[in-house]
Amino acid sequence: MSSLLLTDPVGATRFRAYGPRQLDEIADRYGLPADIREAVRLVSLVLPFRVNEYVLSELIDWSDIPGDAMFQLVFPQRGMLAEGDERALAAVSADPGTRAGLRGVVARIRGGLNPHPSGQKELNVPLREGEKLPGLQHKYRETVLYFPSQGQTCHAYCTYCFRWAQFVGDAELRFAATGPEDLLDHLAAHPSISDVLVTGGDPMIMSTERLRRHLEPLLAVDTVRTIRIGTKSVAYWPQRYTTDADADDLLRLFDDIVASGRNLAVMAHFSHPRELVPDQARRALSRIRSTGAVVYCQAPLIARVNDDAAVLADLWRAELDAGAVPYYMFVERDTGPHDYFKVPLARAAELFQTAYRTLPGLARTVRGPVMSATPGKVVVDGTEEAFDGRWFRLRLLQAREPALVGRPFRARYDPAAAWLDDLRLDPATPADIARAIAGPARAVGESGATRTGQSLVADVVAQ
Ligand code: SF4
Repeated sequence: MSSLLLTDPVGATRFRAYGPRQLDEIADRYGLPADIREAVRLVSLVLPFRVNEYVLSELIDWSDIPGDAMFQLVFPQRGMLAEGDERALAAVSADPGTRAGLRGVVARIRGGLNPHPSGQKELNVPLREGEKLPGLQHKYRETVLYFPSQGQTCHAYCTYCFRWAQFVGDAELRFAATGPEDLLDHLAAHPSISDVLVTGGDPMIMSTERLRRHLEPLLAVDTVRTIRIGTKSVAYWPQRYTTDADADDLLRLFDDIVASGRNLAVMAHFSHPRELVPDQARRALSRIRSTGAVVYCQAPLIARVNDDAAVLADLWRAELDAGAVPYYMFVERDTGPHDYFKVPLARAAELFQTAYRTLPGLARTVRGPVMSATPGKVVVDGTEEAFDGRWFRLRLLQAREPALVGRPFRARYDPAAAWLDDLRLDPATPADIARAIAGPARAVGESGATRTGQSLVADVVAQ
């Protein structure tokens, strides 16, 4: 791959983002065929599109377009939208006189892509005196998610991102906190919270100075024991930890967190083993680890990107090799271009187990396939044949209701099922689990459903 990174006088590469406006420049530089260029242009009217020099020149294999996994990861593609929607977009965008019409079509298509899966908006935003606290989500007893407003972009956007709605400029669809004041209030009122997960977007898009303003106040809260930072920066812009002007300051901030006695967990998002090949990425991981931070790795299983047992095994081995901990293989969520990327649960379990069996013991820290769904994190432990047919074996790894954690249950095997909603629970499922799986989210209108949670439980357990 060619290296076209911009360098400054001291040899450091400078960050430069590219969006839809620079599409022609990218297309000319890399010889993107006209039909692919047009597809990217159209789909990026609806879904976010952003790349940078490092991703373009170090990660994408331009000799294998459009099939290349990294190209699929960051470039919107034909097939991500329904055919009728794509035609409607093409028609209105071809007519410069219909700007209002274009906005309407884009808004309609986005609204149909389930922008807030798993009841995030309805169920997870905590209240103070009846008012929602912007920028926080509190789903599990011990963990709160914090979304700093300056961290709501990323160094590049993943086409499958379940938080895509954060990036399309619709204020209605954003979670963001301008400062940590509400978070600190919430922590004071909830001493059971031991973990703060700082997320976005990508918090590492912020300057170190800004990040410090968000994180340092947490070190005065005794009940907070672990600070987690969710980030894809090691994959998309490892220079954040190596040659950026404030990279050394960032490592000092990490040092300070660890010196305070807290665990610092960098929750690194790696989708494909190629992201761990460049020296920059390996150096970044080494520098992060030198502070005492622990790097945990996670990613969803995505058709066309990493749905191959050999690729997954390579990914988890490369993570271990870099001193990081393979942690989660998620199931792609039911949002955005889900039909394009989804891998059925049966296939996901098979891929996971095939890859897992080849791993050295220390890489078998990885868990999957895991659905981060309304009631909690549900792992598909595999399938089983019984006298009454074939079943999925499932378990709640994490749950809104702590009493459900670790409890196994079953659902009827279905080779096409791709999410929890597609499953039919065993009639013998304990009522508390069945209620949690049927979920209040449906009662509050997730995915436009109108039935009550209770009637759905009745459906589920009655079969
Ligand atoms: S880096 Fe994370 S938050 Fe950003 S687009 Fe990718 S998946 Fe979404």
